[in-house]
Amino acid sequence: LPQWRRSAQRDSKTGLANAMYWDRLASVELSRARERRTSTAVLLLDMDHFKRVNDDLGHLAGDSVLAAVALLLRTNIRRGDVVGRFGGEEFVILLPATEPAEAEAIAQRVRRSVAALRVPLTTAEGQPHELVGLTASIGVATSQRFGYELPSLLAAADSALLAAKGSGRNLVTMA
Ligand code: C2E
Ligand code: C2E
Repeated sequence: LPQWRRSAQRDSKTGLANAMYWDRLASVELSRARERRTSTAVLLLDMDHFKRVNDDLGHLAGDSVLAAVALLLRTNIRRGDVVGRFGGEEFVILLPATEPAEAEAIAQRVRRSVAALRVPLTTAEGQPHELVGLTASIGVATSQRFGYELPSLLAAADSALLAAKGSGRNLVTMA
């Protein structure tokens, strides 16, 4: 693809689909799933206390964290799944042909991988060090309960995400 088209589709910090492009890819998958009546799930992931990383360690450290999480998602999720970044510290994943129990297991796998993540950083003095102890909260919504319309799925996943945050973070909540 020409560079101008790539940059219109990809988020430059992480290389993931940006919100608008993700929306288009996810809509295609959802209409296919609706026709075939296959179960589909949306995962909304938000990094916990991300503002602290930016405030305490600076924006470059924040960017390294976002890139590391994006790489983790790309290597822990199947190629056919649709991963995107919604801006800020929020990521979104559409899982085609996935049952609710599988979606929950995948969300837990991702949550555990984030908690085990070590992000290489450099101190102001130029010393290498690792950032550990990052966590994420994840809300999951399934077509079985919320249908095949993207806005309803995203709204449900967002409520579940808020519930995960409210219950102490580093949690997966099913809508
Ligand atoms: P599992 O890890 O317990 O996953 C159970 C089912 O959840 C999978 O059944 C699949 O339907 C769904 N699933 C799990 N992870 C993903 C994912 O990242 N994306 C999507 N779209 N669906 C996912 P399936 O395909 O019959 O696989 C059965 C078992 O085979 C898996 O159990 C796992 O132990 C193994 N497996 C399959 N593919 C891979 C893989 O690429 N890597 C690894 N490490 N194991 C795999
Ligand atoms: P992929 O399907 O794109 O999956 C990418 C990564 O997502 C996997 O890396 C794994 O970390 C995670 N993943 C995907 N599906 C599952 C699953 O069902 N369970 C679990 N626990 N993790 C899953 P990984 O394991 O290094 O595999 C790399 C590639 O090798 C996969 O890319 C896939 O193309 C192939 N592969 C590995 N195991 C299997 C398998 O059991 N069945 C099939 N059909 N392909 C597999």
